[in-house]
Amino acid sequence: MSLLTLSFDNGPDPRVTPRVLDILASHAIPAWFFVLGKNLVSDEGRRLVARARDAGHVIGNHSFTHAIPLGEDARPDAVEEEIAATEELLSPLVSAPKWFRPFGGGGRLGPHLLSPRAVDHLCTHQYSCVLWNSVPGDWLDPVGWPEKALQDCAMRPHTLMVLHDIPDACLEGLDGFLVRAKALGVRFTTECPPDCVPIVEGRIVGDLSGLVAAG
Ligand SMILES: [Zn+2]
Repeated sequence: MSLLTLSFDNGPDPRVTPRVLDILASHAIPAWFFVLGKNLVSDEGRRLVARARDAGHVIGNHSFTHAIPLGEDARPDAVEEEIAATEELLSPLVSAPKWFRPFGGGGRLGPHLLSPRAVDHLCTHQYSCVLWNSVPGDWLDPVGWPEKALQDCAMRPHTLMVLHDIPDACLEGLDGFLVRAKALGVRFTTECPPDCVPIVEGRIVGDLSGLVAAG
């Protein structure tokens, strides 16, 4: 029996997130939402985060602008502008523990994900860092992604999947995917595979060597 942890990145988006929440509720499936600070500036964005929180989902920080991966961001204040500025908007809405997911540009894992300063910041501020092991490409193929997603679930005992609650991504295929996954015996959880969480509450517990840019 395989386990699946679903995560929805880059929202909240008023056109998509409410429908994703409805679908998850109809299946009684809890998930993660890694949100962008720029989407929390509006009341509507913050209300969506509160709704997801109240529905039992886990909310994490996924940077403010989602423009340049932290390992490639030359701004001296990139960590403050991306992680801390998002946290400022998130902290009134969700209580600790704090979760951060770096973005990879197309879901790639590599040294572009984090900078040494970002790692220091995550450790100093007791974040856990949540990566992934499945990116079925919902934004590239909004109709076909569920096939790839089901293959990913069959490949390993515990899949931590990245989907996106933005337009033209997972929404259209989501309900059908969940029906099929359930029929195949997939169980849903918000627990993460340990090898996808290299920093736990500020402690480095995994191998970051391939995930941090040279200082
Ligand atoms: Zn992202």
